[in-house]
Amino acid sequence: MKIERAVWGNDIPVREYAMSINGRRITSDNTDVAINPATEQPIASFPLGNLQHLDQAVDAASAAFLTWRDTTISERRKALEGLADQIEKNYEAFLTLLTTEQGKPRAGAEWEIGGSIYWLREIAKQSLPEEVVRDDGENRVVTRYTPIGVIGGITPWNFPLLLAVWKIAPALMAGNTMVLKPSPYTPLCTLWFGELAQNVLPPGVLNVVSGGNELGQWMTEHPGIGKIAFTGSTATGKRVMQSAASNLKRLTLELGGNDPAIVLPDVDPDAIAKDLFWASFQNSSQFCVATKRLYVHEDIYDRLVAALVDYARTVQVDNGLLVDTQLGPLQNRMQYEKVCNLLQDCVAEQHRVLLGGVPADTKGFFIPITLIDNPPDDSRCVVEEAFGPVLPILKFRDIDDAVRRANDTEYGLAASVWSADVEKAQAVARRLEAGTVWINQIHVFGPDIAFGGHKQSGMGIENSLHGLSEYCNLQTIMERPLASAA
Ligand code: NAD
Repeated sequence: MKIERAVWGNDIPVREYAMSINGRRITSDNTDVAINPATEQPIASFPLGNLQHLDQAVDAASAAFLTWRDTTISERRKALEGLADQIEKNYEAFLTLLTTEQGKPRAGAEWEIGGSIYWLREIAKQSLPEEVVRDDGENRVVTRYTPIGVIGGITPWNFPLLLAVWKIAPALMAGNTMVLKPSPYTPLCTLWFGELAQNVLPPGVLNVVSGGNELGQWMTEHPGIGKIAFTGSTATGKRVMQSAASNLKRLTLELGGNDPAIVLPDVDPDAIAKDLFWASFQNSSQFCVATKRLYVHEDIYDRLVAALVDYARTVQVDNGLLVDTQLGPLQNRMQYEKVCNLLQDCVAEQHRVLLGGVPADTKGFFIPITLIDNPPDDSRCVVEEAFGPVLPILKFRDIDDAVRRANDTEYGLAASVWSADVEKAQAVARRLEAGTVWINQIHVFGPDIAFGGHKQSGMGIENSLHGLSEYCNLQTIMERPLASAA
């Protein structure tokens, strides 16, 4: 007898998705369709914006900037809190919509939607007061943080709403206005949020335009945009940097990663297998900071591998709208095919596959949890950012060798070290070339915690006052009394 499994989602509100430009709903003659990655069924159509739409959005943002930049901190704080309220009022509908368009199960959707609300409320408390750097009674020097103007925000498909909020909140709080473009794979939550935002913000302060990759490129070339805040792949980040040169746009680039985890021999493999599993497979590994290479000391290698395989076998991979699903599908066909190709390479290279390895012939972009046993360091599954649930587990004997191998990558986003001896772990952490290193934990973020990549994982910082300051120009004002006539 087939047991029916319970579904948690409410019906998604039936709506026609529209862009938000100058406070108004704007549709387009051209549309595309968002696909549910668990079923490959269409969810809803959305507008494909053209260059005229972008010009209108930039014009609206430029006009709004003239008054928004002069609002007080408390007015902006209220606005951000209002944005958080708009999401909170529609919490359940956002969860369902996010799972339907992105694929993640309810727990992941709660983390992202709840996180979006939390980030808006916390960034609302941040500010960068003027600094008096010199005052000798005669000469006074003040450093100010002034807004840049119109910010272009460009986001990927793995955390569509949260990563948009990571840009919107500091950009607006610093007194800028914004044109935001979501990924064409996951535009719906962002478009809906853009519409709700118009209940709270003056027209033109936040404009949301949707479209293909070319729309992103037009943004990076647009002379009316003063800064691009981009999250996406390293390859696209390089293109963004090139075209941003036209008017010397400021840039924050949060790019790819190939994060190592190093496990020292003093851990209890059974106790940490679960944490290490989720370090790698959270969001079906479509996570810039997922553990993508797991280095394990040879003394505990076999026990940890066995514990990981045992735990992985208990994890339910299915449609995220089913209550007991723990991992959903990959978000889109392009990514699914990329990961299938990587799996074929593992077979062709005769890597030992401990679990998974072969996608089932079903509807939806599902890849089985795949664990690879000690492949060579130069194999594709070690060198490339899989961005899918394929984890190479690598054996090491000597910690210096593990550190060298962990650092032997063009990426430098994050890393983790696991040990019963925190001091020993710290010594390893300090030698890793990564923007964030977690010790005995993973994926802890905060509005007050600086996040950014080293090497080709990006430039600039999101979150914290460092992140807020990236949405500002620095202005120095130097004054002294006018000299009187002798
Ligand atoms: P992507 O680079 O393909 O696309 C990201 C965004 O850029 C999309 O909105 C896309 O439409 C737009 N875009 C595409 N071409 C463009 C161009 N020439 N100019 C301007 N914009 C353009 O990335 P993706 O596949 O959506 O996301 C996956 C990648 O994002 C992974 O590499 C992942 O590691 C990275 N990522 C990084 C972080 C981080 O914080 N460092 C977070 C999430 C994802």
